[in-house]
Amino acid sequence: MYPKAFQKLIKNLASLPSVGPKMAERLVLFLFKQDMEKIRDFAENLLEIKNMRICHRCFNIAEGELCEYCKDSKRDQHSICVVEEPLDIISLERTKVFNGLYHVLGGVLQVGDTGADLKIPELLSRIEKEKITEVILATNPTTEGDTTALYLKRKLQPLGVKITRLGRGLSTGADLEYADEITLSEALKNRKEL
Ligand SMILES: [Zn+2]
Repeated sequence: MYPKAFQKLIKNLASLPSVGPKMAERLVLFLFKQDMEKIRDFAENLLEIKNMRICHRCFNIAEGELCEYCKDSKRDQHSICVVEEPLDIISLERTKVFNGLYHVLGGVLQVGDTGADLKIPELLSRIEKEKITEVILATNPTTEGDTTALYLKRKLQPLGVKITRLGRGLSTGADLEYADEITLSEALKNRKEL
């Protein structure tokens, strides 16, 4: 039987996505062997996460009211790339192809879902208020991602904005988060009008 402190930490780690109980045990033993400074740094960084906020404008993760992309006036202020989750922004940024703004939906439409918890009304009002000229729909190339893109297209069309979707080349069912840089760059460059 592990000491109480070990058991508690194993339980914490095992509750994380993709970490099973065996992996959690191994991680705890690994952490136990680290020096105090490293552990303190780790614990402080963990707490720091909760100081992060959600950007008021695009719903990305932010350190203050606005995220780093919304704050950056050098970015193209008239195009918005719509993504499912903040992690997708990190993948897209790595390509250095897109230099506009983002909008995080917070998920995708599921079957029989009205999308009430997605940030769609906020997107529509941004397009009008910020005089957006192009919206790139960068939801994942999955069934739900495609359905969401088509749904958004119907909502956006009356606003007279150019609507594009990431080019094929991204394999169907894939996740933007795991797409490699070159594939993602090509998908951005080859985006097609919807
Ligand atoms: Zn933002």
